[in-house]
Amino acid sequence: MPYFIIVMPRFNSIVCSLLFCLAVFSSCKSTHKSGNIRVEKPQWIPTSYQIENQRVELIFGNTKDGVNSRQMVQPDLIKALEIVLVKTNAKLPAKDKIKSLYISSTTNGVHADKSNHYIGTAIDISRINGVKLEVLGANNQVTMLQNAMEDLKNVRENYGPALKIKTLKNGTKKAVSVSGHQDHIHFAVQSPLNGDL
Ligand SMILES: [Zn+2]
Repeated sequence: MPYFIIVMPRFNSIVCSLLFCLAVFSSCKSTHKSGNIRVEKPQWIPTSYQIENQRVELIFGNTKDGVNSRQMVQPDLIKALEIVLVKTNAKLPAKDKIKSLYISSTTNGVHADKSNHYIGTAIDISRINGVKLEVLGANNQVTMLQNAMEDLKNVRENYGPALKIKTLKNGTKKAVSVSGHQDHIHFAVQSPLNGDL
């Protein structure tokens, strides 16, 4: 019995320490990671991507407020755009391959309340190879680009001339009727920074 009295408090304190460490570890983990979705430090969006042997230039415009669209965004958005370009250019015939995208907005400009633009997870593309999307409509390039976006595991919003689909946090896809996306593709990725739905 004396042994039990001596050992139990020690045992309890070890269990408490272990539980404390576990709690600290899991709370640290959850601030950086939520499932496979990470919150990382924003990075400058690149001025080009090398896709196989094709360089794809990103051209940046100013919004009405005079702010340029070359801004820091979430790294997941930068990676997602590269994956989308690889997939799209692999499918397009040589004459249609994407050589440049005109980025009209990242975090700049005025958007809907709680828009993904403000948190660096959304981008607006308004020209492909120098041609405005309002002229291209849902052509091969736009359709394949939007299909490649939709195939991504971390797609959030994919609104443009070919598709208008929102993917909720639980993976449910929802067709949405958003106006004003005939002249650009609005593309956003999933992030713990997004809103609730
Ligand atoms: Zn947008």
